[in-house]
Amino acid sequence: MAETRTAPEALKPGAQLGSSSFMQLPHVSAFDELDIAIVGVPWDGGTASPVGSRHAPRTIRVMSNRLRRLHPLLETSPFDMCAVGDVGDVKIDPFDQAKSLTAIEAFYSELASHGVHPITAGGDHLVTLPILRAVARHAPVGVVHFDAHSDTAEAGSDGSRYTAATPFRRAVEEGLVDPKRVVQIGLRGTVRSNERNRWARDVGMRQVTMDDLYKLGLDGVIRAAREIIGDAPAYVSFDIDGIDPAFAPGTGTPVIGGLTTYESQRILQGLRGLDLVGGDVVEVSPQYDLNDLTSLVGASLMFEILCLVVDAQDRRRKTKRSA
Ligand code: MN
Ligand code: MN
Repeated sequence: MAETRTAPEALKPGAQLGSSSFMQLPHVSAFDELDIAIVGVPWDGGTASPVGSRHAPRTIRVMSNRLRRLHPLLETSPFDMCAVGDVGDVKIDPFDQAKSLTAIEAFYSELASHGVHPITAGGDHLVTLPILRAVARHAPVGVVHFDAHSDTAEAGSDGSRYTAATPFRRAVEEGLVDPKRVVQIGLRGTVRSNERNRWARDVGMRQVTMDDLYKLGLDGVIRAAREIIGDAPAYVSFDIDGIDPAFAPGTGTPVIGGLTTYESQRILQGLRGLDLVGGDVVEVSPQYDLNDLTSLVGASLMFEILCLVVDAQDRRRKTKRSA
């Protein structure tokens, strides 16, 4: 059994009720103390209507305090294996899209330059683009993308090229993402045009629709995702509308016929062992929610992704040590 690194005492989650951080983690501003950072991006400037995901980082953090710290699939708590801290929210300008995108990219670039892997609570799905600009600044990454929508439109309905419907098209164009190492899971529902899906498949993305998921089964989807991602670095982006609105009603573009929460967790857990370098949960909109259920789902998925990234970081460290 290889040794695990112990987080400094100051980075162990406390037990204070009323904590406003993710899972009662310490608030950290010195990035060099961290392996992994929880980040909030309270911004929905990529959404014309209906907006509201800017409020999700707060409610996700609140509901995260219902979670326990040990994942049954891991031998130990992620907070004992890695130094994890909540670094708060990116300061954005809700009235200026370009400025906000720049601020998000700058924040994540700073994390990246300290070797810190980010786990993000969005925000709408456009926040993933500036995050990828930082995470993939040296080489393109693969992406496991959960969503009802492919988010590969050329432009939004108003002609804007930077919206929550376009991040993965821009990410491919900017060389941040290797389209042949992208798998999109949970696609379904009506579309404005089929061009966006055609484009995604033409550049080599693998689209797993809900129909495909039922045909392949969970293990088949996991096998396909692992094959597509391979051994190279990859990022997990989870749009909460990938999940059925029966389980996650609090989102701006709910689409029926989606993933159950169990299916989502099972697929995520099946990604263990991949070289995951970060992830996000986006598009939670608290004002459409019931009893903060969707924020609880969002927090739970962030914990699943956190455990995967902790596991990958632990493996990197062991490989480095034995090299
Ligand atoms: Mn979506
Ligand atoms: Mn999306």
